[in-house]
Order: sequence, then C-alpha cells, then structure tokens
Amino acid sequence: MTSPVWHPFTQHGLGEPIPRIVRSEGCALYTDDGRRIIDAISSWWVTTHGHCHPHIMAAIADQATKLDQMIFAGWTHEPAETVAAALVEMLPAPLAHVFFSDSGSTAVEVALKMALGYWRDRGARHRILVMEHSYHGDTIGTMSVGERGVYNAAYDPLLFDVGTVPFPAAGREQETLDTLERLCRTENPAAFIVEPLVLGAGGMMIYGPETLREMHAICRRHGVLFIADEVMTGWGRTGTLLACEQAGIVPDILCLAKGLTGGAVPLAVTLATPPIFEAHLSKDRAKLFYHSSSFTANPLSCAAAVANIAIWREEPVLDRIADLAGRQSVHLAKLAAHPRIRNARQIGTITAVEVEDTKGDYLSALGPRLLAAFRDRDVLLRPLGNTVYLMPPYCTDDTDLSRIYEVIDEALAE
Ligand SMILES: *Cc1c(COP(=O)(O)O)cnc(C)c1O
Repeated sequence: MTSPVWHPFTQHGLGEPIPRIVRSEGCALYTDDGRRIIDAISSWWVTTHGHCHPHIMAAIADQATKLDQMIFAGWTHEPAETVAAALVEMLPAPLAHVFFSDSGSTAVEVALKMALGYWRDRGARHRILVMEHSYHGDTIGTMSVGERGVYNAAYDPLLFDVGTVPFPAAGREQETLDTLERLCRTENPAAFIVEPLVLGAGGMMIYGPETLREMHAICRRHGVLFIADEVMTGWGRTGTLLACEQAGIVPDILCLAKGLTGGAVPLAVTLATPPIFEAHLSKDRAKLFYHSSSFTANPLSCAAAVANIAIWREEPVLDRIADLAGRQSVHLAKLAAHPRIRNARQIGTITAVEVEDTKGDYLSALGPRLLAAFRDRDVLLRPLGNTVYLMPPYCTDDTDLSRIYEVIDEALAE
C-alpha cells in the first residue's frame, strides 16, 4: 500500500521507511507501533517548551469554541491584538509594528517587500545583500536570498541576483566586514538580511556577537536596512530571547516564526520600526502594503502565541534554557574527544559537530546512514550532510539528553 503523500525533502525513490506518529508529549513523539522517539531537533526547530504544552493546547481548544478564522484586512480580533501588544512590550522599543503571516518563509518575503516599499519613494533601491551559507526559506524570494546549491539549482533561473558577503569564520571576520562595507558603498543596497549568530540550515555555523554588532553598524552608517531573520534563533534557542540581544542591536525589520506559538501551530510575524511603517502610511490608498494571505493572524494560532508568551512571562524559561545549555556542554565535551568528531561547537541550547568523512556535501552518503542509525534507535536526529546537531526542546531531561549522545556514540561506532 503506497501513500499518496509527497513528503518534503524526501526522496521517495529510495523507499526509506516513513514512521507514523500518533501522539506527542514533552520531548517525545510516539509511533503507531508504540515506540517512543526522542525529538532531538524539536521537530525541525519549532518546539520550544515541549510538545503538547498543556497551556498552549488549552488555549487553542478554548479559542476553537469562539472564533475559528476571519479576514484580517480591515477587521481585527482579540488574540491578534494581544499577541501584537505583548510582542511590542517584550521586544526592543523601535520594533513597534507587527505584521502577521503564516511561516518563516512568508515572514522573510514580507520583510523583503517592506524593505523595498521603504525605498520606493527614496530612490527605489532594490538590491539585497546576504551572507554566504544563509537559509531563509524555500519560496522563490527566500531561495534568492539564501545559499545556492543542489537543493535550488533547478530553480536558479528564477532567482534574483543578490550581493553576498562571506561567512565570518573565526579569524576571517574582517573580510566579512570589509566586503559588507564595500557592497554598501558600491551596490546601493536596500537591505542586508542575516541570520543572527548562527546559520541554521547552512550547517549550524556560529559566529560572534561582535561581528553581528559591526555588521549592523556598517549598515547603519550607509543607511542600509538591517533585516534579522530570527525564525530559528528567536524564542531562546541561543540562550537569550533574541540572538540580536547578545550583540546589543535592534534590527529595522525582525522575522519570527517557528517558536512563536511554542511550535504548536503555524504563525509568523514581521516586526518593523516606525520609518518602515510610515513609508507605507499615506492618504493615498495606492501606497498601502500589498501583502496578505488567507490565514493571516489566524485566531487559533494567535491564541497559541498568547499562551506561549504567557509561559515566557510566568515561568523561568531562560533558567531552563541555561540549565539545558549547561548540560549540553558537558555532553558535547565528551563527544568532542571522539576521534571521528571535528569542530564541536555550541550556542545556547544548540550543539553541533562534524563527523569526519571524505565527502562533506548535503548528499554525502554519511548523512542518510547516520539518520537511519538514529531512527533505528528511536532518536529523531536529522544530520545536515555530515553535520550532526542537537536542538532539543527546553524540557528535555538528563535521561533523554544522555540517551541522545549515547545513540550518537553508537552510530559512530557502526
Ligand atoms: C526555518 C527557517 C525559515 C523558514 O521558515 P518556514 O516556516 O519553514 O517557512 C526561514 N529562516 C530561517 C532562519 C529558518 O531557520
């Protein structure tokens, strides 16, 4: 019996098993044949506090008895107003305007459109600067500002041209800053978009807050808008609510998604500073911001976000994150001593290592072999090429965390 479902980032031709999940709780997924799978990557980086957090699930259930979905153009509802007000209160003051969408990709598309809208009456700049190895989503626009490779080669003719600064690898930061400075001077860019402190899909590549601060300063000096894509880094992953905090910077435009609802249901926001909003403010209807999707600010999703924000306010989430980060570093130090492990690194709750291999690209044979070894041992880890990384939900206890590292050891032995 073959399923009609076409899965994302899945080569169906290989006939690999696709386990069926029936339930989730805390840091675990449960299969229909009764296995408990430890979710070591937070179900693709979305689950923050843990699966099926009772407050978030109750908020969705409660909202479901009141208002399911409604048009958000020219109408509003309480859950959206509450989310927006709470975000503005939690985040740095200049980020005063909240635009809702449904996913990280749409949050980034919205950010790019806002940036171009800002420049429309200021000399129509449209060039976007990006960082090498970045990932911002899988739509045409977000692929355009992301790393080019095997995963988007087929669509390359549709992707727009961008200016690229090198990744600020340790010791090469100045090269990044010099290139950014030069591109800001010569290319008349509208905006620079960046994943702050860690490039996720690019392979959990970490760089320092000083570089982030410097890049922001360069953009400031040249009047280039600074877009922070915190879709992955937001909501505590790097040890602080936002990664930008560690650099002491406030972007002109900020994208949040994944953990916005605690990872329970889809929702995204793009926050903007007053100059961006005001560039679209007019008595002229034609100057409005032309973006919408059917489910913009869906009330059920907003209710989940309200519950997530309440958890952040009422529970010691940052302490939990610091505790998990501390336990992660103990395990990572042990793993780093393994002869096949290179470049062990950590930022906040995220750890990553390279497994030594002759060939290190995304399609490297090692990745799928590791994936299968982890799956057979009931741990959900999904290596990026030969990069094995952990990004567990914050509720992951020591028994489960130890088990994840034990399974990595076993897979390496194989
Ligand atoms: C996951 C991710 C996106 C895309 O988010 P989706 O919700 O999958 O569309 C964008 N930017 C970054 C940094 C991400 O990690």
